[in-house]
Amino acid sequence: MTAPHTSFPTLLSPITIGSRNIRNRVVMGSMHTGLEDDLADAPKLAQFYRERAFGGVGIIVTGGFPPTLEGNLTPFGQPFNSPEIVQAHAQITEAAHDGGSLIFLQLLHAGRYGYHPMAVSASASQSPISPFPAREMTAEEIESTIEAYGTAAKLAREAGYDGVQIMGSEGYLINQFLAERTNQRTDDWGGSAENRQRFPVKIVKRVRAAVPEDFIVDYRLSVVDLVEGGQTQEEIFQLADKLEAAGVNMFSSGVGWHESHVPTIVTSVPRAGFAWATAALRDHVNVPVVVSNRINTPAVAESLLDGSWVPVGSDQDAATSPDAANHQQHGEPAGDLVSMARPLLADANLVQRAAAGEEALINHCIACNQACLDHTFENKRATCLVNPRACFETELVLRPAESPKKIGVIGAGVAGLFAAEALAQRGHEVEVFEAASDVGGQFRLAMRIPGKEEFVHALTGVQARLEQLDVAIHTESPRTPGELLDAGYDDVIVASGVEPRIPNIPGLAEAKAGDVSGLQVITYAELASGQKKAGHTVAVIGAGGIGFDIAEYLLDFRDGEPQALSAWQRQWGVTEDPDSRGGLTQPRPESPRRIVFMVQRKLTPMGKGLNKTTGWVHRAAVKMGGAQQIVGAAYSKVDGQGLHITVPEQDITEIQQAIKKAKKAGDKEALDEIHQRAQRERIDKILPVDTIVLCTGQESVRPEGTGVNSSQDGPSAPPSGEPTTSRIHIIGGADVAAELDAKRAIRQGVELAARI
Ligand code: NAP
Ligand code: SF4
Repeated sequence: MTAPHTSFPTLLSPITIGSRNIRNRVVMGSMHTGLEDDLADAPKLAQFYRERAFGGVGIIVTGGFPPTLEGNLTPFGQPFNSPEIVQAHAQITEAAHDGGSLIFLQLLHAGRYGYHPMAVSASASQSPISPFPAREMTAEEIESTIEAYGTAAKLAREAGYDGVQIMGSEGYLINQFLAERTNQRTDDWGGSAENRQRFPVKIVKRVRAAVPEDFIVDYRLSVVDLVEGGQTQEEIFQLADKLEAAGVNMFSSGVGWHESHVPTIVTSVPRAGFAWATAALRDHVNVPVVVSNRINTPAVAESLLDGSWVPVGSDQDAATSPDAANHQQHGEPAGDLVSMARPLLADANLVQRAAAGEEALINHCIACNQACLDHTFENKRATCLVNPRACFETELVLRPAESPKKIGVIGAGVAGLFAAEALAQRGHEVEVFEAASDVGGQFRLAMRIPGKEEFVHALTGVQARLEQLDVAIHTESPRTPGELLDAGYDDVIVASGVEPRIPNIPGLAEAKAGDVSGLQVITYAELASGQKKAGHTVAVIGAGGIGFDIAEYLLDFRDGEPQALSAWQRQWGVTEDPDSRGGLTQPRPESPRRIVFMVQRKLTPMGKGLNKTTGWVHRAAVKMGGAQQIVGAAYSKVDGQGLHITVPEQDITEIQQAIKKAKKAGDKEALDEIHQRAQRERIDKILPVDTIVLCTGQESVRPEGTGVNSSQDGPSAPPSGEPTTSRIHIIGGADVAAELDAKRAIRQGVELAARI
């Protein structure tokens, strides 16, 4: 590891925890990758950690492993209690140590978040995010579970771990014991705060007794629960005192429960938005504290450790500034170490790049959750939207090319740019040709959406890396595959993206051409790019991911500026009042800027298809903004009066409930009848809008001579009649426009680059 770079002297300085020295203050926070459950995947997990250890991380915390079978998160996991698991994990700890990191095993009992019928909890209950009810643990089970934590810690040490992290936050079992919300026991384990705290305190004592002095016990403490019936700050501090006395060497911070109605890690949460809660804990305890949540750059991390972050309540929060350029030394540190989880999924070399003064090259996590948490909650292996190699390190390998080629990439959206990077990393000679005057394609539009401002860093990062790799990007340079092949390129990658679909609605073409007085029709691309402005009363046609993004854009009152932390807290009802339960108060969102109607043809509830872990945030945001949602619409025409539609006469909630019931019963006939009636019995409506924004999907754009089929593995029509079928490759939206997303586009580009 090189000497600390002056930009991040605190972040890169060593620290002693217990009797162990850590090379820097970067903790790679726990992430469930999906490689934990099957021991046959241990080599893949080892390689995942190896790359992060060699990338300079100080401490790695693994994904969660249960101490008991009932504590499993998924139906397929296995508890950390067998000789086989110890043996399999030896390669994981060895990989981390080879790279100079310490590694902790996270012990996580899922409690009522267990996605299986064996789930248990402090009291019998069912979490709102689980289909399985949990039964109440008996007193004997509680004792044996405490014992199991001790056994797991002892085995973790045998497997070579340097410590354990006891997961006491995010609403898992220990949190379920601690909060009135989920603990209604009347025995020694419930009732008073004292009794509710008995479970974690006994676990820590048992773990401490099972391992030697130099083994680090890290307790992940919920610094703010963000649920009704959560703990008060006084209770949290009381618990921290007891845990410290029981032998905890450090506290990691956890924020919110998984069932909380306040977002904690998505892009729209201001950076380091919960640092205030960790800072308060740090003030109170005597062991090192790890600050976490929405820390995705070394600059933000440094500001939290050196005290130059601006505490909660300030409208000029330095931590929300993308480059934290307005550092001033004026406060106490929020923590002694920082936890970054997803940023290290995105870039294994983040620490090394920061240390080398190459922070511009970092592949930034954009907090989208699309390939990490969404996958985890869908029981799929986690990876990363901007780094498809994450968790696929042994499978998606970018080996040096045996015979380097000259490759032209048409299109500088994310598909083209990330493909170009992977190709250049393999040693190919690559050039990128973009028809527009700027790079980024659809991604550049996404970053104009409120709360998605940080998407820009994914673009600037890949551009900087391409420059370092000597890949030229030519803007305003439309090319066809034929032209590039004729110019001597061996292969051409067509990544020319998509354009907005224009639906066929009477009068729409005229209005779009500006021929209808009092009404303008624009595409989402024209609006988000700033080319066109919306009026005051707007209909958004199409309510997919982009329809929701655009509705938020239209309702938003900021002007392209990241939201100040205090305003964000008011919007979501977060308070730093230590007497509040769970850190919650009444939300007070700002008044929306416009009247917005969101319209879709489907009868399903709006936003149902949005991403698993972020969709609810978008649904809540447009609801707070007062957007009026119309489902089951048919578009009749547009004219100077606005948008003419028909909608089912029957109440839409009744229809949706009937559909749900018929689906559950598998009654196809009933389902058909519901749909037929909704078509038959309709009423007319006029939405008196001055603007219609089209968010009705996309269509592929391909330069002349590209052909019609994806040539990922199949043929493409040859340009100028040449037999060049295997030399033209189509990726991203140019390949398939439906359900286009950056995750697919980037993965497709990198996978192709690994093969060429
Ligand atoms: P989309 O999800 O396909 O939604 C477009 C919607 O427009 C359709 O659901 C359809 O709804 C309507 N539509 C399609 N053709 C139409 C026509 N001819 N006339 C009238 N309405 C029509 O596409 P998108 O919103 O453009 O998003 C593109 C991709 O980006 C998706 O994969 C999406 O998941 C992703 N994305 C996700 C997010 C997010 O999760 N936050 C944000 C942005 C983009 P009806 O048939 O019901 O009217
Ligand atoms: Fe970050 Fe998105 Fe990658 Fe997850 S998928 S690590 S949120 S960029």
